[in-house]
Amino acid sequence: MVETEFEPVIGLEVHVQLQTRSKMFCGCDSDYQNASPNEHVCPVCLGLPGALPVINKAAVEMVIKAGLALHSDIAEYTKFDRKNYPYPDLMKGYQISQFDLPICVGGYLDIQTDGEPRRIHMTRVHLEEDAAKLLHRPNDASGGHTLVDVNRAGSALMEMVGEPDIRTPDEARAFLVQLRAILRYIGVSAANMEEGNLRCDANVSVRPKGSDQMNSKVEVKNMNSFRAVQRALVYEIDRQTRLMKEGQPIAQETRGWVEDRGVTVSQRSKEQAHDYRYFPEPDLPPLIIGRDWVEQLRSQLPELPEAKQQRFAQQYGLSPYDSDLLTTSKEIADWFEAVVATKAADGEALGQRAKAASNWILGELTRLLNATGKELSDIPMQPQHLSELLDLLDDRTLSTSMAKDVFEDVFNTGRTPSEVVKEKGFTQVADADSLSPMAAEAIASNPKAVEDYMAGRDTAVKFLVGQVMKLSRGQANPSLAEELLRARLEERKGGA
Ligand code: ZN
Ligand code: MN
Repeated sequence: MVETEFEPVIGLEVHVQLQTRSKMFCGCDSDYQNASPNEHVCPVCLGLPGALPVINKAAVEMVIKAGLALHSDIAEYTKFDRKNYPYPDLMKGYQISQFDLPICVGGYLDIQTDGEPRRIHMTRVHLEEDAAKLLHRPNDASGGHTLVDVNRAGSALMEMVGEPDIRTPDEARAFLVQLRAILRYIGVSAANMEEGNLRCDANVSVRPKGSDQMNSKVEVKNMNSFRAVQRALVYEIDRQTRLMKEGQPIAQETRGWVEDRGVTVSQRSKEQAHDYRYFPEPDLPPLIIGRDWVEQLRSQLPELPEAKQQRFAQQYGLSPYDSDLLTTSKEIADWFEAVVATKAADGEALGQRAKAASNWILGELTRLLNATGKELSDIPMQPQHLSELLDLLDDRTLSTSMAKDVFEDVFNTGRTPSEVVKEKGFTQVADADSLSPMAAEAIASNPKAVEDYMAGRDTAVKFLVGQVMKLSRGQANPSLAEELLRARLEERKGGA
């Protein structure tokens, strides 16, 4: 009997803090991170009786922009609703959210993992307000207490709900990476999971592969990084598959990811699931979104990651993979284009320069940024520095290994590559007159390698190139050295 194979069905729900200056329904400063606790509060966000909310126009515009970037339909008529639930972080006892008429409906996001590109559909995007922050102090003398910081309460929050089109943890990660890129490109959020301005919940179920049944789903919460999302999904898929195989029921419930234990644990079951008793928010009028407003916002959208990626592949002849990596961040993409633009070139020369720039950016630059934990904006190195370094490689002043040394120096100091080259005394020996004697010496002092070459072992040349590199203290141009060595060896062969 063939064992049944199972496949996961995953849908992501993402909450995004919008970078508005003021909160969603009042004039309070929305920067809660750099403020003392309970500094940015007023009767509206404190939920005092009689205080009336006013819709933040900038927040609505950000949601419309996000919807346009996701190819969603932008509603002409939309409204806010009350979502009722009692929790100490909810000042009014209800959250102003959107129920049946969200601002954005439908849309999709194309993602790329190892396999074929995949289209993940969106259900909706709506606007709501954030809750206050609770700080639990469980171990004090009084037996524990909780502090409330209201600064975050009432901040503009965008909820983005995806269809259950995701099939693997890798796809979930790719979806989040692509979504973050879009949010940063359009400038609506810092979209940083570690800082909590992008928060992701996942709905996961498992079913026999190829079937279209929808089994009871589990909602997984408390994941604070892309990596946590991936790990939590791997764990949860495995757990549900095991239960399925044992013929055990899977409870419809909410589970929390416990990072340090690497497990999900049950938080509440369906029986306790909330009934939010939604009803239209009586303190706010419906929101009518005129088409001219939408078009005006559409015209403000920058070139988005997907379009940029296609353009890079087409204009610079880069692989889809490299174009994808370069466009994940707008800053990197702009930096790349600035490097390429410093040298007027077209056709083949442009392609070569672009490929070289891409290799250095995705290689050394990315490595050094990761190693130092820095952002592109923190480093003194500028695009024209890399351009100059590429020139020094092109005219054979530098070998690749010297160039790496120079690159790291420029990355740290912001000096120009030629300054560094001068100081370090780096110059590549790339003229035959200087290299010929070294090639001769390498051949004379390594009879074994010469013998190997004569016997048809071509790799012996690489060894001899290494000897020339040594003799030149790393400054010989390797391809010229190889050329000269081969000429000499072939001459011998002919003479023998
Ligand atoms: Zn306020
Ligand atoms: Mn929500």
